[in-house]
Amino acid sequence: MSAAPVFFHVDLDAFFASVEQMDKPECRGKPVIVGASPGKRGVVSACSYEARAFGVRSAMPISEACRRCPEGIYLPVRMSRYAQVSRKVMDILSGFSPDVRPISIDEASLDMTGTERLFGPPREAAEKLKKTVRGEAGVPLSVGIAANRFLAKMASDFKKPDGLFEVTAGNEEEFIDTLGLAKLWGLGNKTLEKLKNLQLDTVARVRSLCEESLRSLTGNATGTYLYKAVRGEDPGMYAQTAKSHSISHETTFGEDTSDQELISLALLDLAHQVMFRLFNEEGASRTVCLKYRYTDFTTFSCQTTLNHLITSAEELHETGLRLLREKWNPLVPLRLVGIGLDKVGDDASSQQELFPSDYDRKGIVEKAVFSLRKKDPKGAPVKASLLGKTHRQD
Ligand SMILES: [Mg+2]
Repeated sequence: MSAAPVFFHVDLDAFFASVEQMDKPECRGKPVIVGASPGKRGVVSACSYEARAFGVRSAMPISEACRRCPEGIYLPVRMSRYAQVSRKVMDILSGFSPDVRPISIDEASLDMTGTERLFGPPREAAEKLKKTVRGEAGVPLSVGIAANRFLAKMASDFKKPDGLFEVTAGNEEEFIDTLGLAKLWGLGNKTLEKLKNLQLDTVARVRSLCEESLRSLTGNATGTYLYKAVRGEDPGMYAQTAKSHSISHETTFGEDTSDQELISLALLDLAHQVMFRLFNEEGASRTVCLKYRYTDFTTFSCQTTLNHLITSAEELHETGLRLLREKWNPLVPLRLVGIGLDKVGDDASSQQELFPSDYDRKGIVEKAVFSLRKKDPKGAPVKASLLGKTHRQD
């Protein structure tokens, strides 16, 4: 008899702030805010639950956090330390499952199918896992249990902090009903808005439509996603078969510029956004594309293919800059730049290169940065693809 599928989603609670509280006993039980220095520009990267009680949130401007919580303890981001703790946690997790997929520096998805004889029934195994991580890595976490990764992810969020929630067989739809559309993993604000306009503003209404209707109303991919998601079926958030596509971001300068430093910084920011999306979908690419638009709106796109996969925003940035230096006439100011990756696929060999088994340090730090950006969607202007023909207007 084959075992019923069991997945755990592990999410460390207020991770950066929890590490600070572990390392600095004087911070325990206090509102801890990790991020930019007060008085400077920048945002909150993470905050303890004590700080959340004051209304402080991730991605909030640090000035706003100071206003809401003047008595808070403000600390700078120590990414290498968080990466160290994260590695330790991932190590512990790999003692519980042979299939651990890191999602970000503080999240992972585990296939626990067939582990009952080793660790007991799912709930018991999750208790053990929580205790082990707390004891050995020193940080609190929440665990979601379900028959697929999609439900497990949302279950991990359901009882945060220090949560444990299991979506039991037969209760999948009820769980989705409780969550509501806005909390469905993968459902963006744009789609929510669209659904609202279609009078599809509740789970029940979406569920009342057949897959074909949803596909024709919202587009094929979204329609199928919705059809499965409202039934608690995995809509394929971790699908391995996405077809090749491109990921890119671009920005228009406030004023046309020839300032190389400024252009380089803009490209670096865009490169981080691109790599975040690449990691988020577990994609892989070796083709870098660059787009730039002169002050007279003439626009150029170019690309180059490396003989290895791009694994960091720095490399994407450097490659993009090299392309720009080769092509751009710096006497003519630019009004827009964009950078991206083309031929993004996710074949198994690429995966291995991208996510080496020892979970390399650079990747983990980058992924941490990307997961921060994920919490700051306003900082990521999403624009049309860089690829395709030359455009004549913005
Ligand atoms: Mg977390």
